[in-house]
Amino acid sequence: MMDLLETLTDELGAVAVLTGADAEEKSQGAWAPMGTPLAIIRPANTQEVSRVMELAHAAGQQVIAWGGKTGLVEGGHADGELALSLERLNAIDSIDPIGGTMSVQAGVPLQKVCEAAEEAGFFFPLDLGARGSATIGGNIATNAGGNRVIRYGMTRALVLGLEAVLADGTIVSSMNRLIKNNAGYDLKQLFIGTEGTLGIVTRAVVRLHSKPLSQDTGLVGVESFENLPKLLRHMEARLGGTLSAYEVMWDGFYQLVTNEPAAGRSPLEGRYPYYALVEAMGGDQEADTPRFEHALMGALEDGIICDAVIAKSDSEREAMWALRDDVGQVLHHYPIFTFDVSLPIADMEMYVAGLEASFDATWPDNKLFVFGHLGDGNLHVIIGVGDDSPATRKAVEQIVYAPLQKIGGSVSAEHGIGLEKRDYLALSRGPEEIALMRLLKKSLDPKGILNPGKVLSPEN
Ligand code: ZN
Repeated sequence: MMDLLETLTDELGAVAVLTGADAEEKSQGAWAPMGTPLAIIRPANTQEVSRVMELAHAAGQQVIAWGGKTGLVEGGHADGELALSLERLNAIDSIDPIGGTMSVQAGVPLQKVCEAAEEAGFFFPLDLGARGSATIGGNIATNAGGNRVIRYGMTRALVLGLEAVLADGTIVSSMNRLIKNNAGYDLKQLFIGTEGTLGIVTRAVVRLHSKPLSQDTGLVGVESFENLPKLLRHMEARLGGTLSAYEVMWDGFYQLVTNEPAAGRSPLEGRYPYYALVEAMGGDQEADTPRFEHALMGALEDGIICDAVIAKSDSEREAMWALRDDVGQVLHHYPIFTFDVSLPIADMEMYVAGLEASFDATWPDNKLFVFGHLGDGNLHVIIGVGDDSPATRKAVEQIVYAPLQKIGGSVSAEHGIGLEKRDYLALSRGPEEIALMRLLKKSLDPKGILNPGKVLSPEN
């Protein structure tokens, strides 16, 4: 393998090949361990990514693409393998203000994409807690979700075209800028949400939306679970398509982020079993704010909610979002296990009650935190039971995942499968679906060198 590293150093320069302490320093993941890669290769452009893959393919060397290293499911784990960092592909190539598209390189952080869109008078709606370090390439490879899926869809819905490098170094440029293009297979879908197992995304054309001219945000207290979907439908109907977020926090999570040592405080006076963060983005602040207030007032009068506060300034809005985003508080209860499950809203109350009962039965001192994108049917479940041994992990996973199959849920709504959920893929996908996934993997990566062992287990 040293030959390969020497060739790469010769061809791409020393700046492109990190080993030893330099590599170790750059191998810190935000949440999940990244392993100890043999080396980190940092190509400067698509041609260099292609060359790296060509050489790796010839040598049978396994390669794991790295973005912002903010993944949660060990999808970028690279122990003894080559990590291919896209961090130097960090330019925004162009913005088309007439078509409303942006052509961007994979290593650009999400926040930079959003800021560039804003400067051009547009809005890029993908929004998630790791926005400062997560890269657009990583967002695409994992089909990231986040806070505004209810209005704008997952990352998949925001990608018009992309360029990817295949396992053998072939560059597939599919930089489509058209909204509608049914000329044959939509090849970009092979690389969106496939976690770097079928190709490495190097550039993309993303869709920009009109910048909303109004934003109204409210935080409400809700007495019973059945009122949460009622409130969702109530607000959807009355806001005429402008609802842009519907985030729900169970009381346990809410107490965590509104009390010491957290910096946040509750803007509501009372304490409720559920809290919803509701946001609308529209086109006319003068008309939209009264409509938003009227909708929440109606929910109050109908007894759907118990109390509501509406943000009167940007700082009040930011303070509300800061509560929802302050997930880091769960680290006070380390060790923890984190989950992002999907399930029908109608089954959520029973599902969470089942989790509570099961956890209480085995670990009476457990700390359970539930919150998430209720409008998308996506809950984040974080549980601390005092230890994180492999046996405990397995027992906890069993409790969280087993009930999902029966109700048509998914073991991953938005974080992906990576290594962490691989053994549970079959709970959410049928044997024919998994066989087709394997067929695609074999066709595109016959040597199994791209992010091997992720999503699909190697042996079966
Ligand atoms: Zn989320």
